[in-house]
Amino acid sequence: MANKILIANRGEIAVRIIRACKELGIPTVAVYSLADKNSLHVKIADEAICIGKEMSKDSYLNYNNVLSAAISTGCNAIHPGYGFLSENSHFAEMVERCNINFIGPSSKIISLLGDKATAKRIAKEAGVPIVAGSDGIIESVEDGKVVARKIGYPVMIKASSGGGGRGILIVHTEEAFVSAFERASLEAESSFGDKSLYIEKYIEQPHHIEIQIMGDKQGNVVHLGERDCSIQRRNQKIIEESPSTFISAQLRRKLCAASVKLAKSIGYYSAGTMEYLVDNSENFYFIEMNTRIQVEHGVTEWVTGIDLIKEQIRIAYGNSLSFKQLDVRFRGHSIEARVCAEDPDHNFRPTPGLITNVVFPGGPGVRIDTHIYSNYEVSQYYDSLLAKIVVHAPNRRDAIRKLRAAIEQFVVEGIKTNIEYLYVIMHQPDFVKGQTDTGFITRMNQTIEGERNAGVSG
Ligand code: ADP
Ligand code: ADP
Ligand code: MG
Repeated sequence: MANKILIANRGEIAVRIIRACKELGIPTVAVYSLADKNSLHVKIADEAICIGKEMSKDSYLNYNNVLSAAISTGCNAIHPGYGFLSENSHFAEMVERCNINFIGPSSKIISLLGDKATAKRIAKEAGVPIVAGSDGIIESVEDGKVVARKIGYPVMIKASSGGGGRGILIVHTEEAFVSAFERASLEAESSFGDKSLYIEKYIEQPHHIEIQIMGDKQGNVVHLGERDCSIQRRNQKIIEESPSTFISAQLRRKLCAASVKLAKSIGYYSAGTMEYLVDNSENFYFIEMNTRIQVEHGVTEWVTGIDLIKEQIRIAYGNSLSFKQLDVRFRGHSIEARVCAEDPDHNFRPTPGLITNVVFPGGPGVRIDTHIYSNYEVSQYYDSLLAKIVVHAPNRRDAIRKLRAAIEQFVVEGIKTNIEYLYVIMHQPDFVKGQTDTGFITRMNQTIEGERNAGVSG
C-alpha cells in the first residue's frame, strides 16, 4: 500500500489526516508556510518541509512547491484535505502525471464537478432535480437579465468556482441586477481567479441537506446518510448534525438514491458530498457536489462508526470499500459546532493573536478536532476555524445537552472567539425544536437585537 503520504494542508484537517495515517502505520510528511512553523501538524508528522511564505498563494496554493516537497521526500500519495488545492483539477492532474496517488477522485472528475454550473448539468442529466436557473455560465449581463426575468426574482448570482459560502449574492429586483452582476463578477475574479457566474432561483429559507457518499475504483458506491447544515451565517455553515430532524424517511431514501445514482453515472470514487436545498414541501434541489472530505465529516463518522479518512486512503491505493451498503448502520445523533477566531460583537471580524491558554472539553461522546494549544499563535493569513466540537448521544436532546456542556467547558484565553455565540445558538428554542432552516441565524440575530433595544429603552 502506501509508503509515505504528504498532507497538502494545514490546521485541524492536517492533524486529522496525520492521525489517520499513524493508525494505518503510514509515515507522513507535513508541509508548512513560514507562518505555520510551530503548528501542531508540523510537530506530529514524521517529516516536515517548508513550502514558502505566509500567503497561501506562496505556499499551500503553490503547486510546484507542494509537488517538489512530495517528490523530494519520496511520497507516493498526497492528501489534499479541504479548501486549498483539494478541488483544483490542474493540481490533481499534475499529481497524477508524477505518478503520485491523489487521495480523492480523478482530475477529470474534479474538473467536471468543481465547476458548479457544469455540476448542475451533470446532475440534471442523471435525473436529479436542480434549482431552476441559467443553463451553465452566464456570458453577459444582458443574458443574465433575461434568465433572471424568466425564472423570476429574487434570484441568486453565484460564482461558478465559489466555495466556503463566498461569491453568492441575492438580487431582489431587476433594477438592482446590473450593478449586482458587475459586483459579483469582480468579487469572483478576485476571490477565486475565475469571474464566471451562474444564476439560480432564490429558494426561501430552505434546509441545507447533504448526502455523504463513498465510492471505490471498482465501481462500488454507498451512501452514509445525510447531514443537516442549515445553521449558517452568510451561507457558511456553523452547526451541522446527523440525522436531520426535518426530512422524512421517504425523502431520505430519495436523496440517498439520487446521490448514489449521480455518483455512479460518472464513475465517482473516494469521498464526496452532494449538497441539496430542501423546501418546506419536501421538494429537493441539487446545488453542488464537493469532491473532497468535508469539514463536517465527523458527524457522519460518529453515527456510522466509519473512519472516512482511512477509507479514502485505502480506496486511493486501489482497495475496494471495506463495507457494503447493508453493513452501514446509523446509531444515535451527532452534532458539530465550529469554534472560530472571530468576534461576534464586531461583525465576526477575524481575531488573530496569541492563545495564552486553552482548555478542551472531553468525556464520553465528545470529540475535539483541532490544531491549537496553549501559546499557539493564530495567524491572520488563513481560515479562522480553531476547532470542531463533535458530540454523539443516543438521541438529539441528549446530544444538545452534551454539546452545551462541552461548549461551556471550552476555554480559550488571549483572543476573542465565537464560543459564547455557539452557546447562544444551542439555547435557542427554535434550535431545540429542530426549526433550523437557513433563515435561523438571521431570525436569531433579529430577536437578540430586539431584546437589546428593548433593554436600552426600558
Ligand atoms: P464544507 O463544505 O466542508 O462545509 P466549507 O464550505 O466550510 O466546507 O469550506 C471549507 C474550507 O474550504 C473553508 O476554509 C473555505 O474557506 C475553503 N473553501 C471551500 N471552497 C473554496 C474555494 N472554491 N476556494 C477557496 N476556498 C474554498
Ligand atoms: P458554497 O460552494 O459556497 O458552499 P453553495 O452553492 O453550496 O456554495 O451554497 C451555500 C449556501 O448558500 C447554501 O447552503 C444555502 O444556504 C445558500 N444558497 C445557495 N444557493 C441558494 C439558492 N438558490 N436559494 C437559497 N439559498 C441558497
Ligand atoms: Mg456548498
